[in-house]
Amino acid sequence: MALNPCIDTRDVRFCLFELIELDKFAKSNSHYSDFDKDTFNEFLDLAERIAVEQLYPASVEGDKSGCKYDPKTKNVMIPEAYKAPLNAFYEAGFMGVIDSPDIGGMGLPHVMGMATNEIFCTASYPAMMYPGLSHGAMLLINSFGTQELKDTYLPKMTSGEWGGTMCLTEPDAGSDVGALKTKAVKQADGTYKIQGQKIFISSGDNDYYDNMIHPVLARIEGDPGGTKGISIFIVPKYLVKKDGSKGEFNDVVCSGIEHKMGIKGSATCSLSFGDEGKCIGYLLGEERKGMKIMFQMMNEARLGVGMQGLAISSTAYHHAVTYARNRLQGVHVTQMLNPEAKSVTIINHPDIKRMLLWMKAHVEGMRVLSYYLAHNLNLAEVGDGEIKKEAQGIVEILIPISKAGNTDTSVLVTSEAVQVYGGYGFCADYPVEQMMRDSKITAIYEGTNGIQSMDLAMRKILMNPEQYNYSILKKRFKEVADRAKGIVEEKYITMFEKGLQKLDEVIEMMKAQMAGGKFMHLFMEATPLQQAMHRLALAWAHLWSLTVAIPKMKELVGDLKGEEREKLLEDNYEAAYYTGRVLSAQFYLGYEFPKFFGQIESLLFQETAVIKSSSPVFTGALKE
Ligand SMILES: Cc1cc2nc3c(=O)[nH]c(=O)nc-3n(C[C@H](O)[C@H](O)[C@H](O)COP(=O)(O)OP(=O)(O)OC[C@H]3O[C@@H](n4cnc5c(N)ncnc54)[C@H](O)[C@@H]3O)c2cc1C
Repeated sequence: MALNPCIDTRDVRFCLFELIELDKFAKSNSHYSDFDKDTFNEFLDLAERIAVEQLYPASVEGDKSGCKYDPKTKNVMIPEAYKAPLNAFYEAGFMGVIDSPDIGGMGLPHVMGMATNEIFCTASYPAMMYPGLSHGAMLLINSFGTQELKDTYLPKMTSGEWGGTMCLTEPDAGSDVGALKTKAVKQADGTYKIQGQKIFISSGDNDYYDNMIHPVLARIEGDPGGTKGISIFIVPKYLVKKDGSKGEFNDVVCSGIEHKMGIKGSATCSLSFGDEGKCIGYLLGEERKGMKIMFQMMNEARLGVGMQGLAISSTAYHHAVTYARNRLQGVHVTQMLNPEAKSVTIINHPDIKRMLLWMKAHVEGMRVLSYYLAHNLNLAEVGDGEIKKEAQGIVEILIPISKAGNTDTSVLVTSEAVQVYGGYGFCADYPVEQMMRDSKITAIYEGTNGIQSMDLAMRKILMNPEQYNYSILKKRFKEVADRAKGIVEEKYITMFEKGLQKLDEVIEMMKAQMAGGKFMHLFMEATPLQQAMHRLALAWAHLWSLTVAIPKMKELVGDLKGEEREKLLEDNYEAAYYTGRVLSAQFYLGYEFPKFFGQIESLLFQETAVIKSSSPVFTGALKE
């Protein structure tokens, strides 16, 4: 199997076929029985080819040229280098990879969408923001739009002629979406006049698509304040004529773009709707149901952003490995007193190996978590009875953990990649500097990680009836611990099981705090809880992986030791792969996971300094 510079398609296949057993799932489910492992592999190969040959070379160029805004025409130009790979992506049909054939999709299982998207995003996730946002907008129209809206917009959005966005944020309404001021006024013909300002809108305007279709959150005149009074409208940049072609300008103006630390090729736009009083919007679904509807897109988007965290980490790790295998510096630690010793490549130094294994373990754990989540999202749609109910519970609890946990981790992993490169890593001539800059936004947009953590602690656990989501998650975690018995060394399983018990202690403590109305405590604890649960989830992912990787490693490597083992690993890629998978899992469980217990103890300690720290505590030193 060919290796490429940025994408670990071997590990992608491990997750798909050896953990999730996608081919078996497809065979047993009538929705997917037309597909088999060969077909899935063909899609993966095609995605890899487009990603490696076309998208990856555009990544650096996209960062260098960035997006440009013309204040005269109010148009936005995206990096030229993105256009051909995006065309290839659309022409190969990847826009509709998991969509129903009714709307021009290929109808593959969700986890294949996750895998192909990961492959494209490892090559350039800023470029993939364009079809990514469009896809979310398309699905909203498909789920909630009238037949007329579907017929008008979906075919051209699937083909890539037109693009889509997601318009929530305003200058005074970021995390607090309910504070939005954009208004809608109903017209006699049933349409609405839209007026307001949206900021930070990804792909808001660009010269790639011929028309932009904006799902816009707004408040109908007279409706209540807060999130309850929000409705959602489809607002095209250009209206559409009866024959389906692009019509008159719809008074949607881009007033500028942001100059950012990363994802420079993704246009982040300020949009003015209806400055001239001529902007028309079409209601999506029912009035005042905007937040509920938008949540569908937000779930997909949060899953996607968690995947971006995985993808940018994976590519940073692969670059760091390649660099470490080539950079000569220092002598081997066993030769440090030998003045004649020759320099070795830095991958031989224990500290570099530790950093690489740390990155590898996080990347692989995040991949299992993301793919498992996508698969459960699928089961929540096509499964029956209990399977469907449980899958929905798993999705609800894992979405904030994967979004926040993966993206925070991506900032650390990309930073570690820079560290492996040394001084060169800090320089723009080497790619990891860009990756570190690109990673940070994933922790901020699509609901900051603080907001995700509050969602996890409150809505997904404490306020969830009888903590159903949490109990299903624990049930799944315990199943893996049981399966690991007899395969995985007892010490790892015991520690994982102890971790599950300790988490229970924290949840019980938080339940008591909630009963006592201690909301300051609860909200202060949300992020540390999310971080601990992400660590526990990755430990589960590695335990699960070991149940498959250990038998395979034993089969391929046997009892070989020393030089014989080294030679086999050099010559036999599969033996090296499974050995690496076992070592990174053991490293995670034995080195990284114990930190979970420190996180739990710090929560149980109930330190209240945060609660006592009011604003003057922070500003006191600044006063004259
Ligand atoms: C590059 C980029 C692309 C984006 N793309 C889009 C897009 O396509 N569509 C779109 O609608 N938006 C988009 N956004 C906006 C993004 O979703 C918001 O920036 C984000 O939701 C945070 O809002 P804010 O920036 O106003 O920060 P604020 O809401 O002001 O938050 C500032 C800090 O306060 C914390 N905070 C806020 N409220 C609370 C609270 N109640 N409790 C505890 N902590 C709190 C936050 O966690 C954060 O740390 C994008 C932003 C950027 C930078």
